[in-house]
Amino acid sequence: MFHSRHFNIITLTEGIYALEATEQGGAMSNAGIIDLGGFTLIFDTFNTPQAGWDLRQAALSLLDQPIRYVVNSHWPGDHVRGNQCFAEEIIIASGTTRTLMQQTQPGWLARMTPLLPDLESDLAGLTARISAEPEEAARLRLTAEQAYLLEIRESIETLIVTYPALTFEHQLTLHGTKRSVELLSLGQAHTVCDTILYLPSDSIVFAGDVIAVHNHPLFTDGNPHSWLHALETLDKLNAQQIVPGHGPVSNSSATGSMRQYITDLLAISADYRNPAQSDISGIPVPEAYQSWKAPGVFQRNLEFLLRN
Ligand SMILES: [Zn+2]
Repeated sequence: MFHSRHFNIITLTEGIYALEATEQGGAMSNAGIIDLGGFTLIFDTFNTPQAGWDLRQAALSLLDQPIRYVVNSHWPGDHVRGNQCFAEEIIIASGTTRTLMQQTQPGWLARMTPLLPDLESDLAGLTARISAEPEEAARLRLTAEQAYLLEIRESIETLIVTYPALTFEHQLTLHGTKRSVELLSLGQAHTVCDTILYLPSDSIVFAGDVIAVHNHPLFTDGNPHSWLHALETLDKLNAQQIVPGHGPVSNSSATGSMRQYITDLLAISADYRNPAQSDISGIPVPEAYQSWKAPGVFQRNLEFLLRN
């Protein structure tokens, strides 16, 4: 099996693979490789071009056939910054996602490029701190930070913002000789417009960031209320395997835990609308979510709910 520092490959069924981001690579989110019969479809392209190039190589190595389609589930960089590795193929997204990419991605690159000299000195400082650090746990944490910054530096130096060439509004079905896939835009959820990919014949969904597993999902670009409706739509598909945007491959239980998380945070924020309890900085992460990754997102979500 193809090996990459950016992801681990999980076989979901014959010809369908989930690529789970590794902790220290440049992927940051999950992707998919699907054999439609004679050609391949890629779902999402990771956070960096270098992870995108490995995704391309993995698809060619696993299926030994041309890649034809590439889908972007939603606009944030961690799902679209490998697009340039598929410039010859047909990149597909909802029209809203394409517009949001145009509004955000060139600005990100313009903001990050002048920061490269600072990044260099951060990396030099980290190297010195790692060699001076006696504690193994702290050394590992610093090494992870260093690996992340190295990936970001490479991506800033090499990124060519590449947009989808084909857009759709609500639903698009792509047919191959082996199977068909349905792209369903679920409207506002994690962002203003989130697309999932459904494989009816295999009972599999690639959910993008409509689903996060053991990761705090970020509310601030979307709408948690309509996110609950999106989860209802997802539930109706009855998929046996769900590939989240972040975290390990899961099953139908993934929608239930997302619904619970959103409902819990809406309830907590409703309590704190009471002026007597207006200081949210001391609100602890509920026990059920204490082991989830990206714990800082919890406070950001509460602040977002209280502002909106
Ligand atoms: Zn993401």
